[in-house]
This record gives sequence, structure tokens and C-alpha cells, in this order.
Amino acid sequence: MTHTFVGMPPFPTAAREALADTQLRHNLVHATATIRGKRAGVVAEVENWEELRLAGAAVKDRALRGLDERLVQLEESLTARGAVVHWARDAAEANRVVVDVARRHGVDEVVKVKSMVTQEIGLNEALQAAGIAAWETDLAELIVQLGGDLPSHILVPAIHRNRAEIRDIFRRRMAEAGRPAPADLSDDPAALAAAARAHLREKFLRARMAVSGANFAVADTGTLVVVESEGNGRMCLTLPDVLVSVVGIEKVVPTWAELDPLLRLLPRSSTGERMNPYTSTWSGVTPGDGPQEVHVVLLDNGRTRALADDVGRQALRCIRCSACLNVCPVYERVGGHAYGSVYPGPIGAILNPLLKGTGDPQTDSLPYASSLCGACFEACPVRIDIPEVLVHLRSKVVDGHREDRVPKPEAIAMRSAAWTLSRGPRLGFAERLTGTGLGVARRFGAARWTSARDLPAAPRESFRAWWRRTDGRLDDSGG
Ligand code: SF4
Repeated sequence: MTHTFVGMPPFPTAAREALADTQLRHNLVHATATIRGKRAGVVAEVENWEELRLAGAAVKDRALRGLDERLVQLEESLTARGAVVHWARDAAEANRVVVDVARRHGVDEVVKVKSMVTQEIGLNEALQAAGIAAWETDLAELIVQLGGDLPSHILVPAIHRNRAEIRDIFRRRMAEAGRPAPADLSDDPAALAAAARAHLREKFLRARMAVSGANFAVADTGTLVVVESEGNGRMCLTLPDVLVSVVGIEKVVPTWAELDPLLRLLPRSSTGERMNPYTSTWSGVTPGDGPQEVHVVLLDNGRTRALADDVGRQALRCIRCSACLNVCPVYERVGGHAYGSVYPGPIGAILNPLLKGTGDPQTDSLPYASSLCGACFEACPVRIDIPEVLVHLRSKVVDGHREDRVPKPEAIAMRSAAWTLSRGPRLGFAERLTGTGLGVARRFGAARWTSARDLPAAPRESFRAWWRRTDGRLDDSGG
């Protein structure tokens, strides 16, 4: 069964439902605290971590500044090494390329390396509609797929599931998708991993076509890079005859040498490891070794829109490490599904509106899904100032509603404040009403506001009344 994020409610509605799920919150607190602790330990070992962050941000900024030229350079390098490059403006174009390649080779199944971008474009659903099965081979993605579930974390998509739930999913669903789980499967992590390995090995050995994304695409050498922890990616990238890689255009890195800071920042920020277990790189086709037909789909799907945004374009530096999710107090309580996208958490709260544009109630709710505490910025290895972008996007959302016939409550409040504050007598009148006004607000108008915050008590006397009474003499404060 295929599940998608299409039609998800705005964040506040989805968050309220998620908050009621105590099992989900327990799983999230446990998992994020564990990853957070590991990351903090390995980051503290690096003396020049801040310089490394600056270097990583500088590489990505350099790539984005000259993106048009770098992309052409990447296409030339890849083509020279035997790859076929396709350009896709949106999800439909990218999906069509992958489906066409699969049809040309007459395959009815593909194996997949974990890839955010193929989830973003709904590739599995497009393949399914064309009668082609897409098998996820990353352990967490396999759990999500077998469970008919949706991913809730960038790095650990099944973070909302605990071991017992995973064992039940394997027992119930593996047989429908291939090799069944052992009847006596326990919830021991090693037993679960062994069941997944046996199930997937059959698919690796059978599949004739693989689909991947890429963590980085090096323009000068025409090299794609996939960074993963389980080795499933390596199997997909080497065993099948045909490989299609869907790559967001922001993944470009100008030169091979500039991968250095990024490959040092990523594992420490994501899995809390000093070095990544499997880093696969490939450049086109090598006769007699690995896939003999390689396609690369360079995908826009809103990235040039994000690039055109002066404040928001820094989001395209993101290397999808998920450190911002693991430190976010909002994410820790509501989990990933509430964000209604494959990109959850703080990065999702800015990336989705930047890629899709504002104007949709679900997307417009995301910049408000933050307390602006700044923990995400502190954790981000490429120094994306997420709070700055959130505030910027909030202003765009409010601007977008200015012409609405029914303005947002914030707009009504701001207009009322502007009217009141623009004339002294109006302000005086408002001050006299303040005590009553706050009482009324507490009771009615601000009920939603005050359900989570304190509304201050009104002073017994306003400043202007005190001034009139005392003529500004401080020794006569009246009490
Ligand atoms: S915004 Fe920064 S911390 Fe968050 S996933 Fe992207 S690179 Fe990692």
C-alpha cells in the first residue's frame, strides 16, 4: 500500500494529534537523545569545528553562486565519462525519465538506495502506477515501506517505531514483498537486521535496475557521491546493470578537493560517527565493472525558486544530516509526520515553503512550527540560520494574506495596534480600557494564546494617568 503526504492538515492540527500519541513521544525522546549525545561527543573532539563549519558553508555558497556554470560543467564531465544526463524541471518530468528507462529495459522492479529526493518527487508511486515495484533497501526505509507508513526523520525514517513494532511489521508484511521473516523472529536488533539482510539479499541479486540519489555531485570530475551506513547502497550501485540517479541541482560541489570539509562534517553531524562507513563514488560507466548504463536526472523542482530568495537561499546548503531535527524541542514532541512532508523538523519548516512557495495553508503553517530558540542554527554543520529564514518566511506568509478578504488574526491585531498607537487620545482611551480589555481578552479573544502562556495583569494606573496626577514627580509615585 502506498502512503503519501498529499492532503496532510496544517501543522497545528497534525501536531495536536501527534502530541496525544504517548508511545510516539517516548520513542522520539529516546532516539533523539541518543543521537544528540553521540553527535555532541564526536563534535567536541574536533578542535576547529567552527572553522570546519565555515569551510563547509563556504563550499556550498561558492557552488550556489555559480550554479548555472557548475551544472553545465557537471553535465559535460558526466557525459564525457559515459553517463546520460537528463534535466527535469519538476517531479513529473523526473519520474517520467525513470519510468521510461525502466520500461526500455523491460524491468518490473528496481532496488533503491535511500534518497530524500526520490521521496520528494513521489517516485515509488509513479513507478507503481507504471507497474514497476520499487524496493527500498535501507533498513529504516524498508520498515517504513513494509509498514505502509510515512518517513518521520531524514536520517532515521522509522524513528517513531520501536523494536517490538518493527518485529511485528516484519512478521506480518515481509512475506508479501518477498522472503518472509522467520516465524520465531524476536525484537533483538541483531535478529531484526539479519531478517532484513536475508530479505534484501534476494532482491539485490535479482534486480537489473537501481535508483539512487546523491549526497554530492562533483562538477569538475563528474563524480556522484552516496554516503550511507549499511552497505545496501553499495550493493545497489554495483550489482544491477542499469543505474538511474536523481540529483537535486543544489547537490553540486565545484571540485573534488572541496568535498573534504563536507565529508568530515556530515558523519559527525548525522550519525555521530567520526567517519562514514560506506562512501561510494562513481563517474559514468566503467566497462566490465558495475552498471553499464548510467543515467543522471538533474532536478529543479523549486530549487531555482529557493535560490532566487536572498534570505532563503542558504537553505540550499543543507547536507541533510538531520542534526537540526535532533536538537529541536518542537520536533522532539511532535515527530516528523506533523510537518506533512518528507522534509520534517526545522529544515522542513523552511525548505518546504521555499521549494513550493507560500499560499497553501499547510505550507504556510510550517514557518510557525518553531519557538525560534536557535538550537538548529547552533547544530547546523553548514551554518544555515534557520531562525532568520523562519522569520523571513513568516513575513512572506503575512504579506501573502494582505489582500485577503478575510485577513489573518495577526493582521487584524497589527492594524488595530497601528490605529491605536498613531494618536495620543486613542492611546489614552485604550489605556483606560486596558484593565477591562485584558480581562475580556483572557476570557474570550486570547483564549488560545493564554492556554499556553501567561497574560500579564494590567497595572492599577497607566503611565499617563500617573503623570497627570503627579506632574512627573518621582517622589510621588502614588504607592
Ligand atoms: S539544515 Fe543543517 S542541521 Fe538541518 S539537516 Fe540541513 S545541514 Fe543538517
